Amino acid sequence: MAPFAGWCAALDEVPDEVFAGRMLGDGLAIDPTDGVVLAPCDGEILNLPASGHAVSIRAPHGIEVLIHIGIDTVRLGGKGFDARVKRGARVKFGDELIRFDLDLVARGAKSLMTPIVVTSEGAVLKNRRAPGSIRAGEVLFLIDGAAVRPGSPLPTQTAAQSAVRAQQAVVIALAQGLHARPAALLARRAKGVGTSITLGAHGRTTDARSVVGIMALGVRCGDELLIQADGDGAQQALSQILAGLEEAQRIDLAHASVPANMPAPTNASAGANASAAANASGAPNTTVPAGASVTTRAARSGEMAGICASPGFAVGRATRIERREIEVAEQGRGAAHEQIELDRARSNVRLRLERVRNTGGAERQDIIGAHLEFLDDPTLNESAGELIANGKSAGYAWRNATRRSIAALQALDDSRLRERADDLLDVEAHVLLALAGEARPMHLPLPEHAILIADDLLPSELTALDRRRLAAIALSGGGATSHVAILAAAMQIPMLIGVGPLLRGVPDGQTIIVDADNGLLQYEPTPDAVARARVNVEARLARSAALRAAAARDAQSLDGTRIEVFANLGSTADAIAAVENGAEGCGLLRTEFLFIDRATAPAEDEQLTAYQSIANALGGRPMILRMMDVGGDKPLPYLPLPAEANPALGMRGVRTALAHPALMRAQLRAAMRVRPAGIMRLLIPMVTDLAEILAVRKVIDSLTAELKLEARISLGAMIETPAAALTAAALLREVDFLSIGSNDLTQYTLAMDRGHTELARRTDALHPAVLQMVAAAARAGTAAGKLVAVCGGVAADHTAVPILLGLGVRELSVVPTAIPALKRQIGALRIADCEDLAQRCLTLSSAAEVRDLVERLAGHAGD
Ligand code: PEP
Ligand code: MG
Repeated sequence: MAPFAGWCAALDEVPDEVFAGRMLGDGLAIDPTDGVVLAPCDGEILNLPASGHAVSIRAPHGIEVLIHIGIDTVRLGGKGFDARVKRGARVKFGDELIRFDLDLVARGAKSLMTPIVVTSEGAVLKNRRAPGSIRAGEVLFLIDGAAVRPGSPLPTQTAAQSAVRAQQAVVIALAQGLHARPAALLARRAKGVGTSITLGAHGRTTDARSVVGIMALGVRCGDELLIQADGDGAQQALSQILAGLEEAQRIDLAHASVPANMPAPTNASAGANASAAANASGAPNTTVPAGASVTTRAARSGEMAGICASPGFAVGRATRIERREIEVAEQGRGAAHEQIELDRARSNVRLRLERVRNTGGAERQDIIGAHLEFLDDPTLNESAGELIANGKSAGYAWRNATRRSIAALQALDDSRLRERADDLLDVEAHVLLALAGEARPMHLPLPEHAILIADDLLPSELTALDRRRLAAIALSGGGATSHVAILAAAMQIPMLIGVGPLLRGVPDGQTIIVDADNGLLQYEPTPDAVARARVNVEARLARSAALRAAAARDAQSLDGTRIEVFANLGSTADAIAAVENGAEGCGLLRTEFLFIDRATAPAEDEQLTAYQSIANALGGRPMILRMMDVGGDKPLPYLPLPAEANPALGMRGVRTALAHPALMRAQLRAAMRVRPAGIMRLLIPMVTDLAEILAVRKVIDSLTAELKLEARISLGAMIETPAAALTAAALLREVDFLSIGSNDLTQYTLAMDRGHTELARRTDALHPAVLQMVAAAARAGTAAGKLVAVCGGVAADHTAVPILLGLGVRELSVVPTAIPALKRQIGALRIADCEDLAQRCLTLSSAAEVRDLVERLAGHAGD
């Protein structure tokens, strides 16, 4: 029933995309003419925030209704609202719930239009009141709750109300809030538990399995998120979400560092300042990430200013691509038929995306991973399902469901989330084309030296272009944190965004120059300028070719000591990039990528195919395969691992492997079948004692016989715990080499979580205590005549490199892009100097002192 008198209208009339887009559910709106909110049905008050501007009520059969008085009324902070009931109260239809001052609220609100929506999933509204005036207590709509899933999505404080309920409020410390990546992480974890989990913030709630729903909560850094899990396993489900947040935090911190190939951020390129600078230069409001830079000099005549989303310089022909709008019929040919069609199209797209996921670098994998999440998003699919049930075609339903989610994202006051709309558009296009029996073409033709000009660009549109002919990209709009910008940077394609609408005036085929480093586009260059630009491009190509050519040689120090420079890999694409950058082998293959995010364990043959493909890309170079490092904070849906209070100190690494012998055997067999046989070396993660190594060795020995291998496979232990570092000599009796995982070794030596935000600066591997651990392991290695490598992040830290070499480390394994610079640095170091430096560092008392010393000495060396 209507909770008050007023003018009844469709939700589309509400000036808020979240309500108008039905992100919270279906319903109607009333523009009130009186200030008393009456209960629209019998029920129990689920939520009535202190601000008193909204109330949700649970009616019998678990149907939940939200009344949100006006739009943007939360910012009134309770002024003008007087709640007459409390959370948990049982009310009867017509009871007074809230009084509000119509005039005062009308003055402070964006609109008084009040949505009354059914937030329960599966509810179907019938007999809706037609637009027009309505009196309090008159029927607004009927609710068919047959398909409603019980289990409240709304936060409540009374744990006793649910048989088993676990809930916790957390303050989000992620710099960018719950944007796509953490949302996808949380949704993935939520899908892995068999319990319903609800996330709530800002008076909105969502099923935690929905990436779109999580993003639409609009949670920013410092906001409170309420996690609520119901049913058996509620506590475990809650721990999963908390662990997901920690993981997201770690990833956020890792991404916060500027990639090696990006220019260091200038003062003007940080956050709000950068946007302001961009606006001052006439560019549209576009966000800038760390690493992107804004124009350093004003545009002159014949130039346009933009924002650098991927550095570089190019000269070429303006080439436009037009986006084709895919036509869809509105009416379907029967709900059952349309639903089958949609499911078929989604599964075709899924197969296709999964096939191409591993053909690019880590960035492409992440982006395709996010697209796969959107494809299976419960909110999107339920919304499309409802439209199909109402007679619409599969294409119409998918497009409308996607556009509603896009509208909700675009309404958020957060540019990073708004930019995710592009990814949804991409997924929309994939599915619509699949419905039409087509697929996105993989290679769109381009002229030589094409400079792509467009208003915006979708990730799949970029990857469909012929990379060899694409010289640069310039967009009139776009976001620097968009996935397409990240992809362009990873593909090393110069890219300018936010150039503005004038870009549309550049004629197709015109020769133009993109100077992304300086945020400038020359749209009418003189022949002289073009000739100079061509020389500049040639010189840049020659410089990077020279660096790469130098990196192709084996690394050795200035005094001739051989140092192996290997790469850390996670995919075939990484391996290709590593070889191009001069990797002499793979020092750490993180095999987790094969085990996580799936419902069942990868079979031996599937693993063999993946490992063999990486081995092939390495072209006979050695390959150190780390046994799966799962468990703890990387749970697997198909492994019954108990929730742990302290996952970092629990069942992880080799402990998990030994607890699941069948899984371990399958992986070892796959690894030992890779050809040529001699290249493969195995590495055991998270070792704490010799017994673990002996247990793995036993399995390897039996497999050696089973597979009739001639030689014993080389086996190494990771030094990631102080226990392993201090007993390295004993471990070396059974292994052929050691590889120091400085990321974990630092966390366990300093007792500081490697993902902790506030401790991030202090979790430094150059702390003398960590260096003592490295020294202990390296001493044991030297005494045993066996190789000691470092594969943790510190190996790519140029301050650390001379110390590590000075301590006796003879192999460094780093991300592929860091290899050329690392080789150049090694070539300039003398081992005797490194040894002196390392010994001095061991006597210091903090990482800061170590860094100071190295930098001071480097400064003198340069004098
Ligand atoms: C490490 O701990 O340093 C390491 C290389 O392993 P990961 O970062 O995968 O835990
Ligand atoms: Mg580790």
